[in-house]
Amino acid sequence: MSKAEAPEADEDLVDYEEVEPEEEAKPAEAAPKEKAKGGYTGVHSSSFRDFLLKPEVSRAIDDAGFEHPSEVQHNAIPAAMVGTDLICQAKSGMGKTAVFVIAALQQIQPEDGKVDTLVMCHTRELAFQIHAEFQRFAKYSPKVKVGVVYGGIPYPQHKTLIESEKPHIVVGTPGRTLALINDGILKLASLKRFVLDEADQMLDQLDMRRQVQQVFMQTPHEKQVMLFSATIPEGIRDVCRKFTKDAQEIFIDDKELTLHGLQQHYVEIRESEKNRKLNDLLDALDFNQVVVFVKSIVRAEQLNKLLNACAFPSMTISSRQAQPERLDRFKKFKDYKGRILVATNLFGRGVDFERVNVVINYDMPDNSDEYLHRVGRAGRFGTKGLAITFATQGGDKETLQEIQDRFAVKVTPLPATIDASTYMSQ
Ligand code: ADP
Repeated sequence: MSKAEAPEADEDLVDYEEVEPEEEAKPAEAAPKEKAKGGYTGVHSSSFRDFLLKPEVSRAIDDAGFEHPSEVQHNAIPAAMVGTDLICQAKSGMGKTAVFVIAALQQIQPEDGKVDTLVMCHTRELAFQIHAEFQRFAKYSPKVKVGVVYGGIPYPQHKTLIESEKPHIVVGTPGRTLALINDGILKLASLKRFVLDEADQMLDQLDMRRQVQQVFMQTPHEKQVMLFSATIPEGIRDVCRKFTKDAQEIFIDDKELTLHGLQQHYVEIRESEKNRKLNDLLDALDFNQVVVFVKSIVRAEQLNKLLNACAFPSMTISSRQAQPERLDRFKKFKDYKGRILVATNLFGRGVDFERVNVVINYDMPDNSDEYLHRVGRAGRFGTKGLAITFATQGGDKETLQEIQDRFAVKVTPLPATIDASTYMSQ
């Protein structure tokens, strides 16, 4: 990657607080035959065929290029597809989405005007992504209709969607979902499945938890509940149990959460040196796609401008943009039409950018959970990746230590050179 002069590369970014957003947006196309990823120890030697899924679901899985289930899929799908409640933790990027998507499609018997499955998640882009996964796996189930609702686009659009298209599977963010329920538009009296993705995040923030609970109260007593995340801290587990009945619980020891294909380094640095270092790294590293995480929207916008001024084709997405633009940019990056994304925690978890092999924490994450989710944007589904974290004086080093102690991972100083083959999958 080449760059022009970097006139502003030594300037600091202003630091502002931001409140990050919660919800998201639209339908996607069914994917044609895709190439399998993987070659990874977390992939199980069994086959999806062993699950004895409906032919229409199996065929879509074949088309997606999925050959072998990952460990979490192997462990969770058999119970989930027969209606067992599930509290499921698994490493980032190991295919949790497919667990509930396959379990729902396997069980659904679509009835006109009845919502069978509700999936809620914390951001609009994630809702969009999950909706697209449902479409991908429902491509041979023509009677199954899937809809997505989230804030930031006109409410009447969703009213019409629910009333006219009558989806059997609804994916949504909590605010918009609840509004549609309260207005009597979205009716959950026949709901059979209730799913929360990024459940710890949704149940940890009090306002979001309240919305989730209000939605939950509108659902029938008898239903399947499935809760997912890469991190389900002790304190949230009991909250999760209140939503479920006799759930199969899959928890992972923190020490096992590390992604083995991911190299993790840090750079000890002053704030004033970050831009220069980032420029140098983007020049020196080989990457398919890179996500640079910063701690606020303003910093993201400024850093993006700076990178553009230095001739790096970066982009940024934030909650400040109008939703359609926000989603367009998300799709663009997901479709590999952008190589460098400057992002806040809005994209710190959940979203799947398949080609990201480098994550740079320009600003240190606030805590070890946040770190784990962010670096998990690289090295997805057993691919190789590289995470580099900038650590300034003070608290940053403590956070780094906390990360290493908790996850039994070594985050070592960035070496002068790294062989690209160690972080670029073929
Ligand atoms: P998680 O929710 O666990 O972070 P995702 O559900 O986003 O992970 O899946 C990560 C990536 O792995 C996605 O691109 C998905 O299509 C892919 N994937 C999931 N399961 C399989 C599989 N069995 N074989 C190949 N690729 C898979």
